[in-house]
Amino acid sequence: MLVGSHHGREWLSSILLVRMLEEYAAAYRAGKPVGEYPSESLDEVSIWFIPMLNPDGVSIQQGDLSNLNVLEKAAVWKMNRYSRNWSRWKANAKGIDLNRQYPAGWKEVMSHETKPTYQFYKGGQPLEAAEVKALMDFTKEIDPLIAVSYHTSGREIFWHYKNKRKNMARDYGIAKKTAELTGYELTFPEKEAVGSGFTDWFITEFRRPGMTIELSYLVDETNPPLTVFPEEWKRNRLVGIMLVKEAKQLHNN
Ligand SMILES: [Zn+2]
Repeated sequence: MLVGSHHGREWLSSILLVRMLEEYAAAYRAGKPVGEYPSESLDEVSIWFIPMLNPDGVSIQQGDLSNLNVLEKAAVWKMNRYSRNWSRWKANAKGIDLNRQYPAGWKEVMSHETKPTYQFYKGGQPLEAAEVKALMDFTKEIDPLIAVSYHTSGREIFWHYKNKRKNMARDYGIAKKTAELTGYELTFPEKEAVGSGFTDWFITEFRRPGMTIELSYLVDETNPPLTVFPEEWKRNRLVGIMLVKEAKQLHNN
């Protein structure tokens, strides 16, 4: 399962996932491999693409408030601290940070944001946001072997959150292969890793490999520029199909 745009300003991840879906589907239809990976593996392993978990946040970040009624417009204006700088918007339209909402270490997450705002507010309780509840229910239904959540920015891969000792080598191995393909940095396992993200929840709930992949060189509180897309696509083109192979091995073991 590959998920994009938990965060409004991170829509580069949605473009990446749609491009991946198109390319893999075309290769499959033509009977051609993707890189060195045979596309017939897709007969045995499915990829579930969820390109944009937070469409409201993405629209707001792009300065498009046309889907909001007058009260909602007033609310997001206030949550953006009366700034016209929409490009920093990270939350959903209700001012909740969707990747601080999952029931894995939620209580421990520290934030000085105590009410809805454009970033970092974790909500009054886990699963308060409908988007998060929907993704959690869907993940349980699909029961994926591997889950990846694409974000921006920093060219970094987070793969570790309270992984069981017996799964450590397996999960590290998959993360390392992803790092080799993308040229991104692997984060060092931290004992006190901050939780409440989608993959934190996936790793602890399913005891299977989950990765949060940060696309693009580091940018400040905004979206990476579209000009970085060709480079990020080149680095990530094979990630999905490589994980198909890994998932097959997980299933057979
Ligand atoms: Zn993010």
